[in-house]
Amino acid sequence: MKKNILVTNDDGIYGAGLRPLMKILESLGNVTTVVPDQERSGASHSITLHKPFRIHEVEPRLFFTNGTPADCVKYAVRHMFKGKVDLIVSGINSGPNLGNDVVYSGTVAGAREGAMLGISSFAVSVAELANGDFDQAAVVAGRIADNLLAMAVPLCRVYLNVNVPRGAKGMMLTAVGTRIYDEKVACRTDPRGKKYYWLAGRFVSGKHHEGTDITAVSNGFVSVTPLHLDPTAYNEFNRLGHLVRDDNATP
Ligand code: MN
Repeated sequence: MKKNILVTNDDGIYGAGLRPLMKILESLGNVTTVVPDQERSGASHSITLHKPFRIHEVEPRLFFTNGTPADCVKYAVRHMFKGKVDLIVSGINSGPNLGNDVVYSGTVAGAREGAMLGISSFAVSVAELANGDFDQAAVVAGRIADNLLAMAVPLCRVYLNVNVPRGAKGMMLTAVGTRIYDEKVACRTDPRGKKYYWLAGRFVSGKHHEGTDITAVSNGFVSVTPLHLDPTAYNEFNRLGHLVRDDNATP
């Protein structure tokens, strides 16, 4: 039976990486695409709670919504497919999602929502802010999708974050690194004399620790980072035990 593949993104329906991804996945199964109607980069895992969620079919099996990537996945899996989705691919994002970016990224959140719903999911991004090679990233995404669909046991509470640099010479499993941003808040004045602020930090550098996503991409490798849904810091249990011991914590 043909597999059901769900595509979402956070760059919206005109995102440059959307069509190349849809096209390559068509060879692996029935592809349905549900994306935000506008760019939602940086939306992280936000969901729509206080206004109606609306969806429009643009062409067969391509829908846009007024929601976030997490909304799109939640709606598609629960309402359209009643859970019967074999794979979710979020992307191809225009620009890298490395290190701390995974916290802010709407692309990564699309895959995370898929994992929360118990479905094998991955996010995929081109590693250049401009001039990314979406066709090459689509080939990589197709290969990973094929492999995930062939796995006897789907990913469980784990999802993948994939970054594809232009001209990649191989692939590596990596850990989440640390990206450093210029934290300055830019202050400007609008034509009416009112001050406004620009919060988007400029990327300055990444700490080049061996084995991280940042290092892999800067060395020209596709970075594949397995991410866990469980953010518990297990190795702190011993050190923090005294916080909750009876003699200390009895209210
Ligand atoms: Mn984006």
